[in-house]
Amino acid sequence: MKVLVLENSRLFQKTLRDLLEEVGCEVDCVSSGEAGIALLNSNDYELIIAGQNIFDESSATFIKYCRIQVKECPILLLTSEPNESLLNNAHSAGIRDIFPKTDITLLREQIHYHIKGQRNIVIQGGRVIYVEDSPSVAHAITRDLEKMNLDVDHYRNAEDAYNSLLLNEYDLMITDIMLKGTMSGLSLVRMVRALKNHRSELPILAMTGHDDPKRRIELFHAGINDYVTKPPIEEEFAARINNLITNKRLHDEVRQQKQALLRLAMKDQLTGCHNRHSLVASAPRYIKEALRYGHQLSIMILDLDHFKTINDEHGHISGDKVLANIGAMLINSFHQGDFVSRIGGEEFLILLPHCIAENAVNKAEQIRSMIEQSNPGGMHVTVSIGVSSLRKEHRTDFDSLYKSADEAVYYSKKNGRNQVTLVSAIKKAG
Ligand code: GH3
Ligand code: MG
Ligand code: MG
Ligand code: MG
Repeated sequence: MKVLVLENSRLFQKTLRDLLEEVGCEVDCVSSGEAGIALLNSNDYELIIAGQNIFDESSATFIKYCRIQVKECPILLLTSEPNESLLNNAHSAGIRDIFPKTDITLLREQIHYHIKGQRNIVIQGGRVIYVEDSPSVAHAITRDLEKMNLDVDHYRNAEDAYNSLLLNEYDLMITDIMLKGTMSGLSLVRMVRALKNHRSELPILAMTGHDDPKRRIELFHAGINDYVTKPPIEEEFAARINNLITNKRLHDEVRQQKQALLRLAMKDQLTGCHNRHSLVASAPRYIKEALRYGHQLSIMILDLDHFKTINDEHGHISGDKVLANIGAMLINSFHQGDFVSRIGGEEFLILLPHCIAENAVNKAEQIRSMIEQSNPGGMHVTVSIGVSSLRKEHRTDFDSLYKSADEAVYYSKKNGRNQVTLVSAIKKAG
């Protein structure tokens, strides 16, 4: 490739010549606009690289000349201090790209890019679902995608693609719009966006044979992320795919971090049980479901007996061990659907859906006896437990359900601790 360099510093001319010759260019260097025009008259250059002096009085005619006579030849501008007026001048002079003189590594990369015509886009792998009804187009595009390091699942119609999408995890969907079969690419896009899970956010790149602005707008309204016409320019296609997959990855990362933070925020660090915040967030759902489907819902509050004495006699760290042991014991003793939470220092609350009061009392008795016998943290510990069940008078109010179980705990304490009380039993006793 023949390159013309217009630069007034001899030293920088030499640097540029070296960089360009490294990639096999033939280089001519000039220091003024007049000398540049003289060479342009008798040579065919494919690239012009100019220093900032291109905007000097004497070089103004050079720019004009370029704009009229060598329109096809890109001009790259090198600058040591980009500023707004320089950018405006460059823009109106039709300059293709501007890059800093100060960073030689970047300059080398830019020059290589312009000379080789390709930036190496490295896609870090990914799985693509690709919908195209024409076998020949599908063959060519699949080959391109595989060259980009992507795994491709190709489908010839939207129905099959949609079914596969429901069962598999993809990083990108590329779909043709005119498809044989009962469903068009546009309907497929709409159906993906209407899904009720994370798959509804799958990036979609639409491909069409005709660049019809109306259809393009319709596709964007339906939810595509990007659009290319067939046949795609390989480098542009790769760049668009890379952007879509990179964004998807970032999006996934944020979603996972959000879930991890949420899990962390809902957990009690010492015992691994849900914390009070999580209970407050979840309890209304348990109540609503029990009322809606007419299920039973029981609640158990468990308070360690004389725990203050354990702390006083053995130290806070030993006390913590007892709490951690009991927490683990509770998590292991209840069903998956039960909700085990630590709601205060030495108080635990368990929600038991589908569990009648009588069964909850039996379960509480088992737990009480297990704790008494298991010496959690190497200490003899007992617990007082209160049990209650959701009744009509609680309506949807968690507080009143909670209060009734708390009342039962209080009764267990008053009655000598290390025992289980069912709230209705208080009523009878009272
Ligand atoms: P009662 O049988 O009446 O429940 O007596 P108690 O001593 O268990 O009850 P009280 O409410 O008087 O004291 C609770 C104690 O629990 C006070 C505090 O020292 C201890 N405690 C609360 N949170 C923690 C904790 O996170 N770690 C430890 N080690 N102790 C805690
Ligand atoms: Mg088609
Ligand atoms: Mg307490
Ligand atoms: Mg206590």
